[in-house]
Amino acid sequence: MELCGMSAVVLATLLRKGEISSREITESVFKRIGEREKTLNAYITTVKDSALKQAAQADEKFRKDNKLPLLAGIPIAVKDILCTKGIRTTCGSKILENFIPTYNATAVERVLKDGAVLIGKTNMDEFGMGSSTENSIIGPTKNPVDTQLVAGGSSGGSAAAVASGEAILALGTDTGGSIRQPSAFCGAAGLKPTYGRVSRYGVIAYASSLDQVGPIGRTAEDCAMLLNAIAGYDTLDSTSADINKPDFLEAVKKDIKGLKAGLPKEYFIEGLDKGIKKKIDEAIALLEKNGVEIVDISLQHTKYAVSVYYLIATAEASSNLARYDGVKYGFRSGDDIDDVIMMYEATRNEGFGREVKRRIMLGTYVLSAGYYDAYYLKAQKIRTMIKNDFDKAFKDVDFIITPTTPCLPFKLGEKLSDPLQMYLVDIYTVSLNLSGLPGMSVKCGEINGLPVGMQIIGKAFDEETILRVGHAYEKMSEK
Ligand code: GLN
Repeated sequence: MELCGMSAVVLATLLRKGEISSREITESVFKRIGEREKTLNAYITTVKDSALKQAAQADEKFRKDNKLPLLAGIPIAVKDILCTKGIRTTCGSKILENFIPTYNATAVERVLKDGAVLIGKTNMDEFGMGSSTENSIIGPTKNPVDTQLVAGGSSGGSAAAVASGEAILALGTDTGGSIRQPSAFCGAAGLKPTYGRVSRYGVIAYASSLDQVGPIGRTAEDCAMLLNAIAGYDTLDSTSADINKPDFLEAVKKDIKGLKAGLPKEYFIEGLDKGIKKKIDEAIALLEKNGVEIVDISLQHTKYAVSVYYLIATAEASSNLARYDGVKYGFRSGDDIDDVIMMYEATRNEGFGREVKRRIMLGTYVLSAGYYDAYYLKAQKIRTMIKNDFDKAFKDVDFIITPTTPCLPFKLGEKLSDPLQMYLVDIYTVSLNLSGLPGMSVKCGEINGLPVGMQIIGKAFDEETILRVGHAYEKMSEK
């Protein structure tokens, strides 16, 4: 197998044995980029020269010291929503097309400190708004499994890069499913940590009470390795949690016998692809055979989750995106216009894409004086009820199993003209963001060659259990 197709954990071991160099891995990744990137469009920016320099530095350090952090010398891709010092960060938008941050996001800072090799910035739906990576200024990312299909979104570039060998690991963000859903569509593993587990400092805000940074890798173990590097308290983010950080790579080694898994009946209903249901049923049977106790549970307010999510996410987005006015950063239009308000209007009109404008309008509407109680406040109340459902369920079970998506990856363009259809793809993922809970998608077989994702949901700050279950499942399904 080529180096670019191997898992991060395996590569880290080979690096320590001195059998391979970071330069070789990095060159292998760039060779793959040369072969596939024209079609896939997974990156907005690649930084080959600095990557090769970082690889050489890692190799130099390995010559002197074998006890480097596990990420040392491993190529990583970063979603273009995370600020990277001196490297253009567009968020998939024209309005930030020439924005070069002066600092690194904390998650980026931490992987670089560990010696990871930054390959580039990945494609995404503009400001994270979308489920297919079709809403990007540079056009859609294609699914590496079948390039007629979408890669999922909004971290589609990160998932496609990992799945295709254009990166070994990647960072994504997840506001309503954007790590888990593209991971499912591309056949990768992706984890959304508990809200507060990973610092949001330097992450361009979409919906601040929902956004989380997380790892995408080939396996649950790879996600654990990357999570070890990025998790932990950060004084620069007041919502980051000052709590104990376990060793996630140690956690995956534990047996899963005796754990209790909940199956929420509201997630196995009409609208779920029959083939996906069958695959999830098989996975559940396999877990049961390996000593997991299966319990039926109910998350009764699930049916409101998509509506509540799109009210709260758009409300927060309309406020967060008010800062783009052509003055502070990025693109400006209307330099010839004397009137400042008209300059703002021209800038925002030309700088934002259709979906972003739709959401700013919707968010402004639900926050407006006359409708605040009817929409925004009510959505916040139901958000609490959705969270209470999970709290109740977790009194009886250790984790919850659901499909990641109701459908298989769809054709490019298929849902673009119908935003409601696009929003429904998030039906199984948004509740976790509303509740702040961690969740991971792992590959659970294929249907006609297309990957299926299984979602494992955990208690707050219990990423250990979901990684452990994900890893155990990957091992037992290999057999
Ligand atoms: N698809 C969802 C949305 O468009 C989720 C996106 C995300 O998680 N960033 O809002």
